[in-house]
Amino acid sequence: MEAEKTKLALADTIRNWHQKGWSPATSTNYSFRLPEDPNTIYVSRSGIDKSQFTADDFMEVDLQGIAKPRFADARPSAETLIHCTLYELFPETQCIVHSHSVYSVLHSAVEQDRVTIQGYEVLKGFEGITTHETTVDCPILDNTQDMVAFSETLRNAKEKLTIPAFIMRKHGTYAWGKNLFDAKRHLETIEYLLECEWKLRR
Ligand SMILES: [Zn+2]
Repeated sequence: MEAEKTKLALADTIRNWHQKGWSPATSTNYSFRLPEDPNTIYVSRSGIDKSQFTADDFMEVDLQGIAKPRFADARPSAETLIHCTLYELFPETQCIVHSHSVYSVLHSAVEQDRVTIQGYEVLKGFEGITTHETTVDCPILDNTQDMVAFSETLRNAKEKLTIPAFIMRKHGTYAWGKNLFDAKRHLETIEYLLECEWKLRR
């Protein structure tokens, strides 16, 4: 079954990314959905050590982030509403990934509202970019614990989301794509570029 296959593949990715230091102290969250049932979001449960994350650590919520009845006792990630809003804003999205990487946090601690990135070969990791001779802006949005407010911030920032990734200030990076493969590539692309830019500039 496609859902089980994707759970296994995403759980494997989550454990690998934990080894990179992208999800300390049970933090970060991940989700996917399938084309045949776009109203069901499989999202990581809250509070799981990401070094131990398995396919059983996903639960199902609807497009509003409400747990499906058979998961009523489970707690979805506190940031589930961010996932719901991204699926709403970018309907082709089937997978959303997140990191609490050091470089996204460092950039957003010292920069205003974006990180401008230019001229790197790895920019071609973003869907639609075919040459290094380009410039992209990765938006920085202020962090908050109020997910309803943040969803509104995201909606208002839609025009600025010209690459499938953004930074939450002193928090981490979100990235998404039309499947797990694309979402994974997009997160790894932005994280690599943020590391290059940080080391280059300082
Ligand atoms: Zn987070």
